[in-house]
Amino acid sequence: MIRQQDRYAVFGHPVGHSLSPRIHGWFAQQTGEAVAYEAIEAPLDGFKAAVLAFFAAGGRGANVTVPFKGEACAMADYLEPAAERAGAANTLRLEDDGRISAFNTDGIGLIRDLQGRLACRLEGATVVMLGAGGAAAGVIEPLLASAVARLVIGNRSHARALQLADRFEALGPIEARAMGELPPADVLINATAASLAGIVPELAPGLVTSRTLAYDMVYAARPTAFLLRCAELGAAQTVDGLGMLVEQAAEAFRLWRGVLPATAPVFAGLRPSPNVE
Ligand code: NDP
Repeated sequence: MIRQQDRYAVFGHPVGHSLSPRIHGWFAQQTGEAVAYEAIEAPLDGFKAAVLAFFAAGGRGANVTVPFKGEACAMADYLEPAAERAGAANTLRLEDDGRISAFNTDGIGLIRDLQGRLACRLEGATVVMLGAGGAAAGVIEPLLASAVARLVIGNRSHARALQLADRFEALGPIEARAMGELPPADVLINATAASLAGIVPELAPGLVTSRTLAYDMVYAARPTAFLLRCAELGAAQTVDGLGMLVEQAAEAFRLWRGVLPATAPVFAGLRPSPNVE
């Protein structure tokens, strides 16, 4: 008997480069879940209509990437608190009663990659994050929940860093500083989009030390310019965001299917040896 597959998709613009169909294909194979997953490029002014059409045609859930994470929040009937605080959702689920729930799994994805695969100790660490867009907003709450000593945000547009720090100040030790005044980091996270353009954001003197784990949310077949610069400055470890991508996908899969897939084999399949995709 042929099993009916439930349909899922990632929506973005552009979206052709997305690894999500491969990742979810592996998750489905591994868990035996009857899942079909595709990439859909929504028009810049037609995200909500595209998602509603997909759900009307039998879609059960969606991942959402740049530039639609804010709109994904706005169209949801139920917003989990973390997505609401971040103002960004990367996962939608169609409920049995027809309502749409929205979640942000980026934060969990980053934390699982740091604490699991990379065995990074966040408790008591000074974490510095560059960037104040949707990706940065999505990871602040779980970082603060990991008992970091302090979380310092620096952003090209300083006003946006200040706004983020204000928004999350009730949740833990967070502050905004000018890019040139960031403190030595145990963990330095690049949550800017600068790497996509091959640009290295301003790195304050002394920010990168021999203890620093430098993490770029952008992933690429070769080390990003940011990671190369951090290595030159003597960082202890430099890592890109492929692991975060796989982990955020696994959490979305769990939200849809109730089963958390193993991520290590999928990561290894995407990158059989360091920095080779
Ligand atoms: P946004 O567009 O919301 O924010 C972009 C951020 O990057 C802003 O803080 C912006 O600063 C900064 N920025 C852009 N260009 C430069 C530059 N040349 N120099 C310094 N800062 C710059 O994007 P997102 O927050 O949604 O995404 C950020 C990155 O994170 C993306 O590249 C995305 O690919 C990656 N990402 C990876 C994930 C993963 O799973 N690995 C998950 C989510 C995101 P300003 O405010 O001054 O404009």
